[in-house]
Amino acid sequence: MNPPVPKVYIETVGCQMNVLDSELVVAALKKQGYTLADSPEGASLILFNTCSVREHAEEKTYSALGRHAAPYKKADPGTVVGVIGCMAQKDQERIRQRAPYVDLVVGTGQLAKIPALVEEARRTGQPQYALSLPRAGASRAEVEASFESYDPARDPEMRPTPFQAFVRVQIGCDKFCTYCVVPSTRGPEQSRPPEHILAEVRTLVDQGAKEVTLLGQTVNSYRYAHGDGRTTRLSDLLLAMHDTPGLERVKFVTNFPKDMTDDLLDAVRELPKLAKYLHVPVQSGCDEVLKRMKRLYTVASYREMLHRCRERVPGVAVSSDFIVGFCGETDDSFAKTLRLVEEARFKNSFIFKYSERPGTKAMGRYTDDVPEAVKKRRNNDLLAVQNANSLLDHRTWIGRSVEVLVEGPSRHGERAGGDRPQLTGRTMTDHICVFDGPPRLVGQTVTVDVTDASGFTLYGDVRVGEQTGVGRGATVEREPRPRRIGLAVV
Ligand code: SAM
Ligand code: SF4
Repeated sequence: MNPPVPKVYIETVGCQMNVLDSELVVAALKKQGYTLADSPEGASLILFNTCSVREHAEEKTYSALGRHAAPYKKADPGTVVGVIGCMAQKDQERIRQRAPYVDLVVGTGQLAKIPALVEEARRTGQPQYALSLPRAGASRAEVEASFESYDPARDPEMRPTPFQAFVRVQIGCDKFCTYCVVPSTRGPEQSRPPEHILAEVRTLVDQGAKEVTLLGQTVNSYRYAHGDGRTTRLSDLLLAMHDTPGLERVKFVTNFPKDMTDDLLDAVRELPKLAKYLHVPVQSGCDEVLKRMKRLYTVASYREMLHRCRERVPGVAVSSDFIVGFCGETDDSFAKTLRLVEEARFKNSFIFKYSERPGTKAMGRYTDDVPEAVKKRRNNDLLAVQNANSLLDHRTWIGRSVEVLVEGPSRHGERAGGDRPQLTGRTMTDHICVFDGPPRLVGQTVTVDVTDASGFTLYGDVRVGEQTGVGRGATVEREPRPRRIGLAVV
């Protein structure tokens, strides 16, 4: 009798970088013979890819460990349980204290070792740790080397959809915003060599990807020094990537306001495959708060940047992140944030209540002095202003036509009164668009005439018998596929 095929179950919390890491880890495990399980039941390896940006994300993982790992480990002690990613890098001892049955603790820079560590845990019965060096613990070169860029051969099966893919262009972060754990959990900022990125994009497109999203914590500060005097900027990389046959769309996230250069904006305007969309988080509309956050720009310079984006890239959609209730944020400082959101016309904003994080500069320097109830109220107030603006923005699209890359079936009943199958996708400005249409359109770029809009969604009618997109001819009809990775976004 053949031995049973080993199964891996993985839960992912956090950002797109984590989704990509999970994809790569599972791809490596599949090479070792694993198949992906939809539930922890029957899995011989249970992994949690974690986020430390807010305390809530960490608590979510501890609770998931209790529900989705502990009972299975108890029933079969041979099951290997792993905590990987940001929390592993930051809290290795605490994890073992709170969940002593965890066998693997593997940081963001050591993910390539997971297949070998699983074997070692099985062989020895001992917990296995693989962590990168702390940032102050060695020379920059040594710390950089300990955060390997983990981008092995890709497996299209592992992506949320076969026609969309994330590509890492940069790892780590050097900005050290005072509230943020990322520079310690993901290490020093390092740009990947352009030829590796371009080869990866070509492979992904050969495998059916039409849209790639380039990932970096401050993606617009991407700069690769070739060592012979030449430097590749993000705009150069985008230009080199643009002619990849079959590639239809390129997005890049997240941008740092101070690094938004004109050459990049010109590339966004000139290159038709580039999404006319920029995510450029401002975090606060008050200079004193920005200074305490060490964001390295003022509200006036952010406004100037926003103006430049819109002047150089007509019609560009801009979105932002905000932290409300940061240390020392007064009613007056919050009122300035409200004013900025009122006038900035962001397409949308992600709003977070400040969560104090051990190990950050803010925790040592400032008091987390805004009460939870006030954080909550400010969150709601800011959201209300943003939602009103999003509605205004969305309604300007009524009567226009948009190119939509169809991602899959829309949630049932999203469009009032609709009883036919509905599809959802995104426009070139990253607006969500929902329309009636057959599942065979999933993965295709179609033209939709926008007839209605809510604050979150454009609604419209697909032009029948028409498929468009820059990479015309690359359209292959596919049925929608469910997401393969259990992804919980916090
Ligand atoms: N590198 C990106 C940038 O600088 O915009 C963002 C990375 S961070 C993972 C995503 C968002 O989480 C940030 O833009 C910020 O709004 C939020 N965030 C980071 N640390 C936080 C904290 N301690 N409490 C609440 N929100 C936080
Ligand atoms: Fe964190 Fe600031 Fe770096 Fe973004 S730029 S990852 S918020 S330190």
